[in-house]
Amino acid sequence: MYPAGITSIASYLGKNQYNVRMVNLAYRMLKDPAFDVERRLKQLRSTVFGIDLHWLPHANGALAIAELTKRIHPESFVLLGGLSSSYYHEELVRYPFVDFVMRGDSTEEPCRQLLHALRNKGQLEAVENLTWKRPDGEVVVNPLTFIPPDLNYIDIPDYQYAVKCVFKYHNLADVMPYLRWLGHPTGMILNSRGCILNCSTCGGSRSAYEQMCERSRPAFRSPEKLVFDIKSFHSFSNGPIVMIHDQRLGGLDRAKKFFSLLKRENIPNELVFELFFPAGDDFFEIIQSSVQKWSLEVTIETADEKLRRLDTLKFPVPNSKIEDTIASALSHGCRRLDLFFMVGIPHQTYEDVMNTIPYCEHLINRFKADPRLEFFIAPMGPFLDPASGAFEDPKFGYKHFYKTLEEHR
Ligand code: SF4
Repeated sequence: MYPAGITSIASYLGKNQYNVRMVNLAYRMLKDPAFDVERRLKQLRSTVFGIDLHWLPHANGALAIAELTKRIHPESFVLLGGLSSSYYHEELVRYPFVDFVMRGDSTEEPCRQLLHALRNKGQLEAVENLTWKRPDGEVVVNPLTFIPPDLNYIDIPDYQYAVKCVFKYHNLADVMPYLRWLGHPTGMILNSRGCILNCSTCGGSRSAYEQMCERSRPAFRSPEKLVFDIKSFHSFSNGPIVMIHDQRLGGLDRAKKFFSLLKRENIPNELVFELFFPAGDDFFEIIQSSVQKWSLEVTIETADEKLRRLDTLKFPVPNSKIEDTIASALSHGCRRLDLFFMVGIPHQTYEDVMNTIPYCEHLINRFKADPRLEFFIAPMGPFLDPASGAFEDPKFGYKHFYKTLEEHR
């Protein structure tokens, strides 16, 4: 799944008179094992090829595509961006096949500045958030100064841009978010860049954004814009829409405004909300009265209350509060509640993991085997997120096998 920011960057540049095309190699490779990536790259012509390296599982893929692109188009510039790129920018730019790394969580405007500088032979020193190399190989790290206070200056994800691309380039493949999207079309709405919480395992936490993006507080999208995004998605799909981040992160007043605006639209799509801390009847009544269909995603990581507190994870509260939250949600029309656990959180032992099973059994009994309550457990992996507390701070007890980007690769 490509990062949502790919659509906002492409759309923003397009509005500024640059010809930009999204090329979704991953979708084509998954759809057709015989797909010839090299052949496709040879068909493309561009002054700059931008490649996303957002999460580290893509370390090898992103670098391999960058290397291949540079070999095929030595006269073009190769640009990388995303959270992992921001973390590893100095190592990344030293690869001979990488010319530029754009740092930070919001690079639409810095990308425009870069294209402007390249087109007009301007000063690269003036491009915000850019890491680059002089001809003699000296690495230059420009200040990371483009840190927008909110997410209203762009549309993200830009669904209207994606729809326009289908008609402009006569293909669907480039905008497909993931392989089976046509059979299971799910929309995604981004509440903010950055988070107010600081979960130790998360590369998108408050401290991680401070370190990688120099962001001290999240950039929120306004309630009006969020409802616009939902309507945009609904204009071409009735599939479920996942709202990334707890709506209450920006304060209860903002959440209430969002729900009151959403209510007026009477959207038939199922809305899937995330919950980062307990909620009660008041909150679920608001949701129930605002949307036709809704579900919840709740990640508590472990059934052990002490571990949740010790490791600064979500829901640092007694299990009874979580169960009250589940009970309240189910009694207010929640269609499905997914409860997520994790194997491999800090300080967790084998016994701690195995205790997940009797705890789920307890929940099954307490909620009389309500089929709306579903449990998930997965290993944390394949890597720790760079910039997360778990990656950075030895107090969380991990032994590092890999630290650098090349080692992860
Ligand atoms: S895992 Fe924690 S820190 Fe990361 S985005 Fe979710 S609530 Fe925020």
